[in-house]
Amino acid sequence: AGQLEGKVAVVTAAGQGIGRAIAEAFVREGATVHASDLDIDKLEGLDVSKAALDVTDTDAVKAYAGTVGGVDILANVAGFVHHGTVLECDEKAWDFSFDLNVKSMHRTIQAFLPEMITRAEANGTSGSIINMSSGASSIKGAPNRYVYGATKAAVIGLTKSVAQDFIRRNIRCNAICPGTVESPSWHARVEELGQSVGGTDKALQMFVERQPMGRVGRPEEVAALAVYLASDGAAFTTGTAIPIDGGWTL
Ligand code: NAD
Repeated sequence: AGQLEGKVAVVTAAGQGIGRAIAEAFVREGATVHASDLDIDKLEGLDVSKAALDVTDTDAVKAYAGTVGGVDILANVAGFVHHGTVLECDEKAWDFSFDLNVKSMHRTIQAFLPEMITRAEANGTSGSIINMSSGASSIKGAPNRYVYGATKAAVIGLTKSVAQDFIRRNIRCNAICPGTVESPSWHARVEELGQSVGGTDKALQMFVERQPMGRVGRPEEVAALAVYLASDGAAFTTGTAIPIDGGWTL
């Protein structure tokens, strides 16, 4: 049997990259998956219940939680990488990043948690909240990741607070801190960097070289950690921020 047999999961930003790999892995492990993305077309090909969901829309998140009901697993994956230092980050960019990367998790957790607690207590298992942070956070300062790093550090703080407050209520909450992982938005970042460093190949090489392992990660590798954190095998694990980064933060 799969590791997530009988469990119900919600995954945000499941359309591509890490979110999609997590949704696919959850399905493979036997979970019933509710996948959502800002762009519902990106969910095509996933054999799950699909919804368009903008995680920056509080009313939409509340309504969505109302239709989905009790879940065992909430994977908060939506996030955006702003490129630049403090000098290139105006208030609009700051607010956008915090809204999408951090407040989105506040919204989904607030909306799903009460039913998660009820379900976990009824089933005698633990509910698992998994928040996508990054190595670029409180763990490491990465160049040109000013507001991104600030948001992902906030994700770790939020994760630990939720873990602490609900530790006796059958709820676990953990953060995943990936290094560089191949995804559509990462490919776009490589192209963009290529324009200032003399070509896509050069940019690719720079991204690869900053990983001590000499390669970037695959979304499936991050998904495997999400499966573990979602599973009963991780029943004693809460409040952690786990790097998965080919040694980037080593
Ligand atoms: P991606 O950036 O390629 O895709 C992001 C997805 O989020 C898209 O499908 C997009 O439609 C969706 N999305 C955008 N705005 C949304 C909104 N308001 N509501 C709902 N969905 C929305 O995917 P990725 O690179 O795998 O990144 C996924 C997460 O992992 C992000 O939180 C990112 O910060 C984090 N992360 C990625 C890397 C990496 O190298 N790729 C490293 C560390 C952390």
